[in-house]
Amino acid sequence: MTPCTRPPSPDWLEEHWETWGREFAKRRDEDSQHRFNWRTWQGKPLNIRLLPLLSEMTDSHCAYCDWFPMDTGTDPTIDHFHPKAHFPQLAYAWENLYLCCRQCQEKDDNRFTEELLRPDEPGYGFERFFIYKYANGEICPNPAATEKEQQRARLTIDIFKLNSRGRPQARKRELKRFRERFHESVPEDRDEWISESPFRYLLCEESGDMFANIPHV
Ligand SMILES: [Zn+2]
Repeated sequence: MTPCTRPPSPDWLEEHWETWGREFAKRRDEDSQHRFNWRTWQGKPLNIRLLPLLSEMTDSHCAYCDWFPMDTGTDPTIDHFHPKAHFPQLAYAWENLYLCCRQCQEKDDNRFTEELLRPDEPGYGFERFFIYKYANGEICPNPAATEKEQQRARLTIDIFKLNSRGRPQARKRELKRFRERFHESVPEDRDEWISESPFRYLLCEESGDMFANIPHV
């Protein structure tokens, strides 16, 4: 999870999200089988309106696992952080929406807890909550964090399955590629290719300093 800053809600969403959420909640109350479909506003489905705005927020990376690019079998979807089945009134709340890969979208919504981390939470930083294990590519709670922070990191890894489905191997691959490219690249180009890599939290801004600390395994 790479930190990001949420831009202000678009005006049209700010104006209507509560009404739209109430309407969806009412339909769910009347019929528990009622399925969520993005509504259309001024002739355009809301998910089509929202995708580019949410993509901009995370630089087109999955908000949770930081996967990129999203068109390689993991086309982008919009995730409701507070699951819409349990929080239907938040179905259109701007702060509740994240760009998300198909894998992260498959999380078990029945396990939702407010302790889950989100990348635009004030004070969130990868290093604060997690450490990366070079040996096996897994991320783990930072042992130097408070107990509460470690618990939040653990739940986040567990619910988003951040250490399964090939992600540790993909992290190792990406880091190897990073090392190779790092030597061949000039600093001015690095920001650009880091922004187009998955797992940016490993290759972060301080790439120079960070690279010096990467043990050769
Ligand atoms: Zn993801």
